[in-house]
Amino acid sequence: MTASTPAHDPNCIFCKIIAKQIPSRTVYEDDELYAFHDIHPWAPVHFLLIPKLHIPSMAQLDASHTALLGRMMALVPKLALQEGCNPYPDGGFRLVCNTGAEGGQEVQHLHFHVMGGPRPWLRG
Ligand code: AMP
Ligand code: ZN
Repeated sequence: MTASTPAHDPNCIFCKIIAKQIPSRTVYEDDELYAFHDIHPWAPVHFLLIPKLHIPSMAQLDASHTALLGRMMALVPKLALQEGCNPYPDGGFRLVCNTGAEGGQEVQHLHFHVMGGPRPWLRG
């Protein structure tokens, strides 16, 4: 964390969700991470996994975030199965992390989209 990346941004919608100022449907929570259902799901299963630390995007990541990112990645398959994704290899899931305007990022707080379930999907 640096002066330019505060732990929480009072104007950030996902920081407000973490602080329970905006309601969400919780999938998982611990000291460092929060997961919740996407409000506009593309797939039968579609949730977002975010760090509680306000990191705007993947573009701000550095070596100090390695353990945090490792925890996020290791949690994804567990939560995907918990939320109803079918097992690998016939099932599986899609992991997406939009980064920046050209990467299609709309909310400036790092988030992994986890999508899965039987096709067809609305998008993706
Ligand atoms: P991105 O385009 O990758 O930044 O995706 C942002 C995602 O956040 C979109 O899929 C939105 O549907 C989702 N989203 C925005 N506001 C909320 C909210 N209040 N609760 C749950 N998901 C949200
Ligand atoms: Zn935030």
